[in-house]
Amino acid sequence: MSEVMLALKGVEKTYNRGQSNAVQVLNGADLAIASGEMVALVAPSGAGKSTLLHIAGLLDTADRGEVAIGGTRMNGLSDRRRTVARRRDVGFVYQFHHLLPEFSALENIVLPQLANGVAKSEAETRAYDLLARVGVAERAGHRPSAMSGGEQQRVAFCRALANGPRLLLADEPTGNLDPGTSDQVFAALVDLVRDTGLAALIATHNMELAARMDRVVKLDGGQLVS
Ligand code: ADP
Repeated sequence: MSEVMLALKGVEKTYNRGQSNAVQVLNGADLAIASGEMVALVAPSGAGKSTLLHIAGLLDTADRGEVAIGGTRMNGLSDRRRTVARRRDVGFVYQFHHLLPEFSALENIVLPQLANGVAKSEAETRAYDLLARVGVAERAGHRPSAMSGGEQQRVAFCRALANGPRLLLADEPTGNLDPGTSDQVFAALVDLVRDTGLAALIATHNMELAARMDRVVKLDGGQLVS
């Protein structure tokens, strides 16, 4: 049996706790994703998808409940150790590419590797390889502003995978693209994830895209249902 890569147990999150405008977003969310498994996270806007992804990706903390990545419980870790775990184990893709505008596509994928202690030549080789796999190697020297929206997002996928994470989290990764482009770019992401054998949780509004995953989970009333 494959290893459980992401496990959430009884995760709760309320914004503005104790205030009159408190919003309980997660109310006992449970989820287990195995390595190599791609799961779609589907819910209407405002249901808490981003909140769940941020907690799973160690960018935010839950009020209650457990988060484990690769079998390691993250709750008790110091901020420093959580940051190390996040850099090493988690790749994150947003709806907007968030590439650094003053750097080339290649540099955007090299920089996170340098921050992780990888040698420059090795980082560049890996960056080229990733760009080639998503079909944008010829854009390696271009800055984000000289690329189309679809190309920018492909580069953002490469950046998310730069440090060889075990878990990929994506928040509406093609939500900002026109439908035709969105389909192709999504297919590139699926191929990349399948090739790498990552565990992935991908939020999308698009049920057709969601149906290409191994499994769909819905966020309903702060809980995850199949
Ligand atoms: P989704 O990604 O499904 O659109 P979000 O996780 O972004 O949903 O938001 C869920 C709910 O939590 C929304 O009602 C949103 O307004 C609220 N929310 C999100 N972030 C904050 C925050 N930092 N402070 C207060 N409320 C927030």
